Amino acid sequence: LSTTELAAVRADFPLLERTVRGGQPLVYLDSAATSQKPQVVLDTEVDFYEQRNAAVHRGAHQLAEEATEAFEQARAAVAEFVGADEGEIVWQPGATAAINVVAYAFSNATLGRGGEAAARFRLAPGDEIVVTEAEHHANLVPWQELAARTGAVLRWIPVADDGRLDLSTLDEVVTERTKVLAFGHVSNVTGAIAPVATLVAAAKRVGALTVLDACQSVPNMPVDLHALDVDFAAFSGHKMLGPTGVGALYGRRELLEAMPPTVTGGSMVEVVTMESTTYAPPPQRFEAGTQMVAQTVGMGCAAQYLGELGMAGVARHETELAAEMLKIADIPGVRVIGPLDTADRLAVVSFVVDGVHAHDVGQVLDDKGIAVRVGHHCAQPLHRRFGVAATARASASVYTTVEEVVAFREALAGVRAFFGAE
Ligand code: PMP
Repeated sequence: LSTTELAAVRADFPLLERTVRGGQPLVYLDSAATSQKPQVVLDTEVDFYEQRNAAVHRGAHQLAEEATEAFEQARAAVAEFVGADEGEIVWQPGATAAINVVAYAFSNATLGRGGEAAARFRLAPGDEIVVTEAEHHANLVPWQELAARTGAVLRWIPVADDGRLDLSTLDEVVTERTKVLAFGHVSNVTGAIAPVATLVAAAKRVGALTVLDACQSVPNMPVDLHALDVDFAAFSGHKMLGPTGVGALYGRRELLEAMPPTVTGGSMVEVVTMESTTYAPPPQRFEAGTQMVAQTVGMGCAAQYLGELGMAGVARHETELAAEMLKIADIPGVRVIGPLDTADRLAVVSFVVDGVHAHDVGQVLDDKGIAVRVGHHCAQPLHRRFGVAATARASASVYTTVEEVVAFREALAGVRAFFGAE
């Protein structure tokens, strides 16, 4: 992004203007946890409530019609943004919920739900589910639970010392018994971009379905799900400049058609008798209950905002910020967990400071108005892999500036001295 573009972007985000900790400018480096929202997203959500608020589908009045149109337009905007067809985007409360829908579809199919059509989702004892050691708990725990429910075995692709996936044993981990390969597109700890083509090819060789956790990629780089050729993908609205409470599950159309529902009730049915029910086609089959319409409309608006900004430029901006962030590795006592070069990585940088607990690092930075995240970032196994319980993490978004990263670096340089660790 050019300086003028970036200045225009920043002016769109009212929260970035506030001050913290006694009048200091806010330096928000926690966008991987949740992004800030541009005014247009806030306005769109308010406008929905002020002008169009109604439950969607089947309403016999004008507001219901307008709400339905806004809801479906948002779906189309999100679909276009990620290179999917409209009917392949299922609204969900977030990525966590979306991944659980797929994991539970496997167990429902294994119980015989969905009939022959759902055969690809059926697991036999000894079948294998493959994840990676880098996963966010949202893309790990649901698969552990699925394994426990079905007798399937959970295996994983290890992480190498540089934070990237270690693919040297890929052919041993992904086998004829593998039924699903679930992996993150971009790690929310190391920022590393996974080699999607290699992983998808490995899954295809053995007929396994692929599930992509696209939470950290969709907001920060171009993502074309059809081109990536994954079977499912999940991402959240709140990380891509949209509201909380909404996310999307992408599923290849023929798979969504074959997939048994997880959450059942109103709005996802065709014919209901006292004895049994037939289900609506996707995406409605997976959208039971009154939908979060205002949030979907906000997420659609966010997708449009990013689309107009241009994701190629956003990705270049990320690379520039990643390079600036990675300079912290030159500060004595600072160790970065993850790739140290800017190839195939985004501006998410986790680190430890010798002799200083991550929470103390976070507090010293916060005292200067710099917001980073501390802890295990919902990726305990990955932290265990690097022998640390907690890290501090700086992460960027479209509105982050180089000056902010420099302020962070300068503040970090003083942390060890502050704690007498030098
Ligand atoms: N996967 C990754 C990589 C994430 O960063 C997150 C959010 N921290 C999630 C999944 C879960 O997303 P949500 O909490 O919005 O459901």
